[in-house]
Amino acid sequence: MAGRIPQQFIDDLLNRVDIVEVIDSRVPLKKKGKEYTACCPFHSEKTPSFTVSQGKQFYHCFGCKANGSAIGFLMEYEHLSFPEAIEELARSQGVDVPYEGGQHPDPAVKKAQTDLYDLMQQTDQYYQQQLRQHPDSQTAVSYLKERGLSGEIAKDFGIGFAPDGWDNLLKALGNTPEREKALVTAGMLIKKDNGKCYDRFRDRIMFPIRDRRGRCIAFGGRILPKDQPNTDKEGAKYLNSPETPLFHKGRELYGLYEARQALRDIPRLMVVEGYMDVAALAQFDVRYAVATLGTATTADHLQRLFQLTSEIIFCFDGDRAGRDAAWRALQVCLPEMRDGRETRFMFLPDGEDPDSYIRKIGKEAFEAEVKQSQTFSEYLFKQLTDEADISGIGGRAKLVETARPMLSQMPEGIYRKLMFEQLEKLGRVDLSLPKPESGRFKPSRKQGKKTATSMTPVRKAITLLLNQPGIAQHWLQSETSNSDELAKLDLPGMDLLLEVLEILRIHPDLSTSALIERWRETPSGNHLAKLASEQPELDDSAALEIEFIAVMNALKKQSVDLRYDDLQAKLDHGTLNEAEMAEYKMLLQQIYVVKSASKPD
Ligand SMILES: [Zn+2]
Repeated sequence: MAGRIPQQFIDDLLNRVDIVEVIDSRVPLKKKGKEYTACCPFHSEKTPSFTVSQGKQFYHCFGCKANGSAIGFLMEYEHLSFPEAIEELARSQGVDVPYEGGQHPDPAVKKAQTDLYDLMQQTDQYYQQQLRQHPDSQTAVSYLKERGLSGEIAKDFGIGFAPDGWDNLLKALGNTPEREKALVTAGMLIKKDNGKCYDRFRDRIMFPIRDRRGRCIAFGGRILPKDQPNTDKEGAKYLNSPETPLFHKGRELYGLYEARQALRDIPRLMVVEGYMDVAALAQFDVRYAVATLGTATTADHLQRLFQLTSEIIFCFDGDRAGRDAAWRALQVCLPEMRDGRETRFMFLPDGEDPDSYIRKIGKEAFEAEVKQSQTFSEYLFKQLTDEADISGIGGRAKLVETARPMLSQMPEGIYRKLMFEQLEKLGRVDLSLPKPESGRFKPSRKQGKKTATSMTPVRKAITLLLNQPGIAQHWLQSETSNSDELAKLDLPGMDLLLEVLEILRIHPDLSTSALIERWRETPSGNHLAKLASEQPELDDSAALEIEFIAVMNALKKQSVDLRYDDLQAKLDHGTLNEAEMAEYKMLLQQIYVVKSASKPD
C-alpha cells in the first residue's frame, strides 16, 4: 500500500517553501510589521485577525484559532489530505515526492485515479449534453422549469439528464474494456454476475457532486416525477453513487463547492436533505445551502463546514423523522461546539421541503425564519425539558442526568460553561462546576512587562523553542543538558519538552512549522500549535536564548534540588550507600554550576 513520505523530505520541503507565498497566492496578504495579515479564510470577519509569520513559517487566526504550517494551510483551505498537500507543495517547487519503498505508493493506482477524474468529467459533460439535446429530456427540462430553475442555476450546478435505457452511458463512454472497467470503479456502471454491465442511472435528473477542487467525483440522480409511484430501491427519489475511490459519502457535501464559488464570505451554511433543495434555494439567491448525501450529518461534515463558517443551520422536516434526525445531528455537534461557533435548528411545516417552502414564502420570509430558528442551546434545553417534567424533583434529576454527559462532550470554553450554568438553573442544583482554569493569560507580576503571560516554566520553555527553534543548540551542547534528571521532575508537559529538545538535537535546523508537523493530529500537536501562536515578548534571538537558558536552568535546579533533598534525607537517616554518596557530592557540585550558569553576565 501507500508508502510513507520520509520525514526528511517534509522537513526540507517546509524549509524550501515560503508560507507567505503559499498563502498569498490564495488569500492576498498585507504586510503589517514583521507579519502578514488578511481576513481569515476559515471564518467570516471584517477586520483581519489572520496572521502569517514568515519567521515561524506558521499561520494563526486570533478569531477562530485556526493555525498550522504551509501543509496544514493547504489541507484546510484546499481540503486536501496530508499527502495531497505535500504533493501540491512539491509540485510548486518542481520536485517529486519520494515514497519510502518506491517512487510512488503505486504509480498504476495514481494513474488510474487520474483517469477516473477524467472519466467523471466526461460523464458530467455527457449528462449535461443529454439535458440539452436528448429527445426525451423534455420531462426533465419541464420539471426543472416548473421548479423555477433558471438556465443559469442549472449551469452553475451542472445539472444533467440520464436518459432512460440500460446502456446509454456504457455506449457513449465505455467503448473499451479499460474504460468500461473504470466506469464500474467510478460507480457509473453496474456489473452483473454474467460480466455484462449496465447504466446505474437511468431516466433521472443528474446532479454532479464536486469535491473541494470542483472535480466531479460522483452523482446524485433524482427520479422524474412521473416515476414516483415506484418505491423499490431503483425507484428511490434520490439515488447516489456508491462509495468509490473518489467518493466518500461521510465526508462530502453537495453544493459546498458551488457555495464557495458563489460567496466570498460565507455567513452561514445550511444543511438540507436534497440536491433539489440546494439548487432551489440558490435560485432564490440563498447560496449557502448544502446537502448530505444519503447519510446523517457526520463529525467530518461538521468540521468541514466549520472551516468555512461559524454558523451552521440544520433544516429538517417538522415530522417525527425530521425531529429524530435533528436530535442526532445535535449529538454530533456537541464536541464541535467551540466558542464562537453556533448551530441552529430549523423545522419546516408539515409536508414542506426547503424547495417548496421558499417558493411559497419567498426569500425574505425564509431568511427571517432562518434567523429566528432555535439556537443550539435553545433546542437542546427545549427538547430535554419537554421530555422531563422539571416542576418535580424526579424530572429535574432526569434532566440533569441526561444533559450532563452531553454537555461534558463540549470543548472547554465559555459556551460550555454557560450551558452548564443553564443546566444548573433548570435543574436547580449546584453541579460544583470546576472553576475556570487559573493561571492562563494572567498578567505577570514581573515588572515592566505588561503583556507578559504567566506560564509554567515548562510551557514557557516550549513556547520559546517554538518561537525560534535555533535557540536550543547552546543548551543542548552544554554539559548541564542531561534530560534524564529533568524527566524525573513530574511536571505537566515535561515529556513533550524533552521530546522537542531531542528532535532539535538531531535536526538542529528545523523551522517551527516543520517541528510542529511531527505531531500532526495528536493532542500534543494541538497544544504545540497553540503555544506557537503565542506572541513573543521579545523578538531578538539573543534575548530569547537567554530567557530559554534561564528557564531551563531553573528547571534543572528544581530537579537537582529534588534529588538533593532526597539524598539529604537518606544521609540524615544514615541510609545513604556509597553510590548515593558519590551522587550527593556530585549534586553539591552541580548546584554550584547551575547557580553560576544562571547568573546573568
Ligand atoms: Zn479565523
